[in-house]
Amino acid sequence: MHLNIFVSQSCFVHCKGCYSFSREEEKGKTIPTKELIDFLKFVYNSGCKKITLCGGDPLTREDIVELLEKIKEIGFTISLDTVGSPIIKDIVSDNGVLIRKMDAKKIAELVDVIGIPIDGSNNEIFRRFRQTNVDIVNEQLTVCEELNKFGAYICINTVAHKGNLEDAYELAKLIKKLDYINKWQIFQYEPLGKYGLKNRELFEITDKEFLNFQSAVLEVFDNDISKLQFKSSFNRKNAYMLIDNSGNAWIPALENMSLSEYSYILNDNVIIGNIVNRNDWCKICSHLDREFYSKL
Ligand code: SF4
Repeated sequence: MHLNIFVSQSCFVHCKGCYSFSREEEKGKTIPTKELIDFLKFVYNSGCKKITLCGGDPLTREDIVELLEKIKEIGFTISLDTVGSPIIKDIVSDNGVLIRKMDAKKIAELVDVIGIPIDGSNNEIFRRFRQTNVDIVNEQLTVCEELNKFGAYICINTVAHKGNLEDAYELAKLIKKLDYINKWQIFQYEPLGKYGLKNRELFEITDKEFLNFQSAVLEVFDNDISKLQFKSSFNRKNAYMLIDNSGNAWIPALENMSLSEYSYILNDNVIIGNIVNRNDWCKICSHLDREFYSKL
């Protein structure tokens, strides 16, 4: 099971179908860096060597560069899911904090895989899921180009949903042109998180529709799957563990949660442990993918 850690709550866009559970948490919660690093040292020594940082958007976290440096120092392979806006400009996040333009070279050096969302070949389609007033498609491409200058490993992340099914072919043509992209992951929309659940009727697609999206992409890529990864809801079931901004470790699964007014209620049956409690660390790590042998 892969480990995904929320390191912030705020973001640079307002996705109508936001699938992040961070929106459910008490405002302003984050795991203090020291506690997170202590826990991650234990995780690494227990054999889990890869993590994904998510949020919100991890680049809204004040000490994100310091945190990345510390995680890298432990030895982790780091994936970072971000809209990426501060790579190219100063920007105010959704909690009103000004985030200064970041050193793209530094981020490219510290992060092993940078996941950048692109869900439409034009702004109108992109904004059906991710709401923003900026010229978002061009901005995302500029973020990718900037990261590419410094040799970043770039993974485009696309959510396939009801609003972009018709765009699969055009989007695939756009992504195919970005020959410096290392990977393109396409996720079937899932009704996770407060808004993902609330707006599921706008976005949810059937397995067959996801396969149609996949077929359009494969046609454009001449069936070359070397850079492509299709992630259906089925593939992702029980595939990852979340550590939220409150430190709770749990495995997202709709059927394991109590639902109320479009909110998930995490209960004791779902929470595996909390990282602030050292006694929970072994139990948390027992669920994670491990690499016991170093690569030759
Ligand atoms: S889905 Fe991701 S990018 Fe969109 S608002 Fe939520 S955290 Fe931000």
